[in-house]
Amino acid sequence: MSLFDKLREWFGGGASDSAEQEGGVAMISCEDALRLVYEFMDGELVDASAEEVKQHFDMCQRCYPHLRLEAAFRDALKRATSGQAAPPELRDKVVALLEQARTEG
Ligand SMILES: [Zn+2]
Repeated sequence: MSLFDKLREWFGGGASDSAEQEGGVAMISCEDALRLVYEFMDGELVDASAEEVKQHFDMCQRCYPHLRLEAAFRDALKRATSGQAAPPELRDKVVALLEQARTEG
């Protein structure tokens, strides 16, 4: 299963504005989530931390594009380093995400 399929599984249709935080459960900060995103994608985080990061990206509309961007970028990179050419649609997706990230600041 590719990283993208995993992401789709996690976020597909699930994340919406109604997914608000319940009770006083502390969520990790955006800063922490973004700092841990690489380890998260590499599967290097232990269960509890991975769950916290996943939960953050589930809930946080602001960080979610970053996760998608990193995932798309790494997927393209992985293909490039393994000798496979990235398919045009993936390249377009990465470019679109980069463009989106840039305009959103
Ligand atoms: Zn966030």
